Amino acid sequence: MSLLVVGTVAFDGLETPFGIRGRILGGSATYIGISAGYFVDRINLVSVVGEDFPQAHIDLLNAHNVHTEGLQVIKGQKTFFWKGKYHLDMNSRDTLETQLNVLEHFDPIIPESYMDCQYLMLGNLVPAIQMRVLEQLPNRPKLVVLDTMNLWMDAALEDLKKVLTKVDVLTINDEEARQLSGEHNLVQAAKKIQGMGPKTLIIKKGEHGALLFGADGNIFFAPALPLAEVLDPTGAGDTFAGGFMGYLAQTDDISFDNMKRALMYAATMASFCVEKFGPERLEHISAEEMAARRAQFTQLSHVQA
Ligand code: AMP
Repeated sequence: MSLLVVGTVAFDGLETPFGIRGRILGGSATYIGISAGYFVDRINLVSVVGEDFPQAHIDLLNAHNVHTEGLQVIKGQKTFFWKGKYHLDMNSRDTLETQLNVLEHFDPIIPESYMDCQYLMLGNLVPAIQMRVLEQLPNRPKLVVLDTMNLWMDAALEDLKKVLTKVDVLTINDEEARQLSGEHNLVQAAKKIQGMGPKTLIIKKGEHGALLFGADGNIFFAPALPLAEVLDPTGAGDTFAGGFMGYLAQTDDISFDNMKRALMYAATMASFCVEKFGPERLEHISAEEMAARRAQFTQLSHVQA
């Protein structure tokens, strides 16, 4: 089933208690695409980079089923750069630097060959740009999932609210859910956010797992795997979204029951992501590793009644 992914492709500078990286491959669409590529054999990417973006990174995306016909390369300009520093708990981070560069004037142009889109993942990006993507599609996709962050709640709340009315599923973290809804209790927050448009909501709680809120008041929980070594959480949320969307597109079933299964694969992919810096760990996951890790998740919370 055709999957279109829109988001950032970036250079990241990362500081965690376990190391520093200066300018490595990052971006919301990068993590989403590579993660989803483990489930479907074609991901149509729409994003933008500058002339400084190396061909080796594009080759890496292509090698993970991410098609880059929709990746604009802007001559004479620089790629989006983000720098973040994690606190000791690895759950919270500070943004040290954001250089928009090519993102400043990004117009997401969807190639003709991407128009037949059944699954659309709008990765973290300026809400007005996410809206521009929806406006260009001749037919509404079967499922639209959107990811966002607190920055857009501060800087572009009205645009964010507009695009929220057009999506089926929203993925955000717990603090963002509280900010967007004005409610501290997450069940109350979910109810309010569902009233803003998305019938289904995923609230990510970092190392404490993720909650899936369905349209009929159904709630499901997927744990995060307790890992002995977490080196870098960057991209875990995007990798989670990529696994969720990739699994749904692969199985072509958007029922709540199947979303529960998708959530477990989402958590599986995120658990790999944090084991190394940047998207490095996602580059090589064997089928055996995937199956074993997925089984660990079942073991983690399954008990006979
Ligand atoms: P995550 O850790 O899942 O929130 O994703 C981190 C990725 O998001 C990094 O690779 C960044 O390049 C990217 N990123 C950071 N800030 C922004 C932003 N304002 N808009 C879009 N992507 C961003």
